[in-house]
Amino acid sequence: MTAPRVFLASRNAKKLQEMERILAEHLPGVSVLGLDDVASYDEPVEDQPTFAGNALLKARAGHAVTGLPSIADDSGLCVDALNGMPGVLSARWSGPPKSDERNNELLLAQLADVPDERRGAHFSCAVAFVHDGGELVVEGRMDGSVIREVRGSGGFGYDVVFVADDLPGRTTAELSREEKDSVSHRGRALREIAPQVARLLAAG
Ligand code: IMP
Repeated sequence: MTAPRVFLASRNAKKLQEMERILAEHLPGVSVLGLDDVASYDEPVEDQPTFAGNALLKARAGHAVTGLPSIADDSGLCVDALNGMPGVLSARWSGPPKSDERNNELLLAQLADVPDERRGAHFSCAVAFVHDGGELVVEGRMDGSVIREVRGSGGFGYDVVFVADDLPGRTTAELSREEKDSVSHRGRALREIAPQVARLLAAG
């Protein structure tokens, strides 16, 4: 019997690495294909106001084009003092072209006058699964705060300025991969959806 296949519709290489390693552990025996494994297609514009809406948009497009059960995520950083922004605009917060470095510079400048006790923030990640039998979306979250300088070299995006409540003292860019996965919004969402995906794939 051939292994069940799932298409993972994500362009962000660092995010993809995290998703692939978490799925390898929590969706064993399933072959995960990426954008490089399928014919190129026009990916949808992420224009929805919610993470769940954008994740669904990407997973639906992947399923429509490849015919395969498809997984996609949408994620971002929601800062309390900025009323939840950058949120779904996280990747392009400082405008085009997308740059993690400029995004972090801008965020730190925007929070320069915000005292330590009001620097709370959380990462959110919605993961959508779309297959012939229907759709599923789950959300994961990592609470923490935004520090005042850039620290660490792991992870990606805003990891260099974010300290998680569950693993304090280091930014999420200073954690090992396993540590980050254990508390991250993406780890939590994927660990929640994986058994449901496994069941649906097994049911055909
Ligand atoms: P998208 O999900 O591809 O639309 O973009 C998510 C954006 O949110 C990334 O480009 C990062 O700026 C930010 N982001 C999402 N998850 C993480 C994370 O785990 N660490 C740091 N930044 C993240």
